[in-house]
Amino acid sequence: MTGPLKKVIIVGAGPSGLLLALRLAQQHIKVTIFEATPAPSDQPRATHYGIPAVWELRRAGVLEEMRKDPECFQFDVMCWRKLDGTYLSGMDTRDLNRPGKPYDDRITVLTLNKVIKVLGEMVAKCEDATVKYGYKVLAGVEQDEEKAWVTVQSQDGTVEKHWADYIVGCDGASSQIRRSLFGDMEFPGYTWDHQIVATNTYYDFHKYGWEDSNFIVHPEHSFMAARIGATEPLWRVTYTEVNGLTNEEILARQAKKFEIMLPGHPKPGDYKVILTSPYKIHQRCATSFRVGRYLLAADAAHLCNPFGGLGLTGGIVDVGGLADCLIGIHQGKTSDKILDEYSRVRIEKYKTIIDPISSENFRRLWDQDPEKALEKDEFLKLLKNNEGNVELSSQMQLGSLGILHDFSASFDGNKPAGSLSEKVDISAVTVTPVVN
Ligand SMILES: Cc1cc2nc3c(=O)[nH]c(=O)nc-3n(C[C@H](O)[C@H](O)[C@H](O)COP(=O)(O)OP(=O)(O)OC[C@H]3O[C@@H](n4cnc5c(N)ncnc54)[C@H](O)[C@@H]3O)c2cc1C
Repeated sequence: MTGPLKKVIIVGAGPSGLLLALRLAQQHIKVTIFEATPAPSDQPRATHYGIPAVWELRRAGVLEEMRKDPECFQFDVMCWRKLDGTYLSGMDTRDLNRPGKPYDDRITVLTLNKVIKVLGEMVAKCEDATVKYGYKVLAGVEQDEEKAWVTVQSQDGTVEKHWADYIVGCDGASSQIRRSLFGDMEFPGYTWDHQIVATNTYYDFHKYGWEDSNFIVHPEHSFMAARIGATEPLWRVTYTEVNGLTNEEILARQAKKFEIMLPGHPKPGDYKVILTSPYKIHQRCATSFRVGRYLLAADAAHLCNPFGGLGLTGGIVDVGGLADCLIGIHQGKTSDKILDEYSRVRIEKYKTIIDPISSENFRRLWDQDPEKALEKDEFLKLLKNNEGNVELSSQMQLGSLGILHDFSASFDGNKPAGSLSEKVDISAVTVTPVVN
């Protein structure tokens, strides 16, 4: 199919669904989002957006809006440490801004609830986008040559059927759309033996000379401490815990864990935890991101542990590419075969970059002897080697752009405005990690 799209339905008003709706509505494609919950989510999840995500957010006009929030900032240094705080090696993101290096879209920090708020406000201003909160998409898929349908239940129990040219599942890790397409248990991959506990914690790590983002290598007490407040000492402290603990057990152990892990070995009262949320973590990818008129993007399509900083970053990049494809179809510049390419390329990027790098980033924290890390861990050795070398450090950081793909390069006509290949020569970059 080529030519004007009448309507796209997106399932889920998380960050990926809202960003997709925004990109499509900006090109006057009518879009409806059905979101099961009555209001946007406030869970402590993403905080750091990698360079490829920042590139996508900028071209959608979102980065500019995010930066209006006083808590939005670009952090300076990330590093790896031993449990006693000893610095191992790290990377200075300011190397991208040194003289002669004008790259201003470094890894950007803003808590996900605030990004969702920005996206929600931008979508609300688009005439062609409607967000329906409190509308849950039920099991089942139905499509023919011209349309696809979803069955939706509103909070008062009313059940309705809605059609669209395409239906995109942006409905997160437990995606109903993915389960309806492939089966409830069909999400290939695995669940890690560790669970993680994400907290938002007030504590002044800078007082102890810690950098903006710190990863602590230790077999039992590995964790990340990353600044998430620009104007206040609010930090994301995420630590690994044994699987199987109940929430009560996790909370009961937290004070002892913090005393062991945090610099200065604080007691409760020396810090303030304002949010604690345990997560099971997975590496999983759907077998296809397209089945006819149904598409999948972001967490609905693939999952990785958050220590790669590639979760939503990968999802945002999916959405940017998928928006280009749907806009290309709408504008008659490509056929719907581009959607098969979307599925093929995004799965390949997951399997060759996102999955291996995020897995390595997680294992690095607990699956090695911290005393030997600087001798044996190739990544930490590479960082050490790059320290003080602006050129190598910049190349390494921009290497993360390798998860982008320019779908518009396969279009027949002109590329959509702001297409990737006009801005970034991705053939010139090699693939290296972004970490948050
Ligand atoms: C602790 C933690 C830290 C993280 N940190 C980072 C980070 O720093 N950087 C990063 O890039 N990533 C990070 N991630 C990953 C990131 O948070 C996720 O990748 C991202 O939230 C996924 O967005 P999404 O829009 O795909 O899905 P979601 O945010 O899960 O949104 C899905 C939406 O769909 C709705 N929905 C579900 N089912 C239905 C249905 N049947 N009908 C209608 N609506 C439905 C849900 O209510 C929800 O609103 C982190 C994750 C965790 C757990």
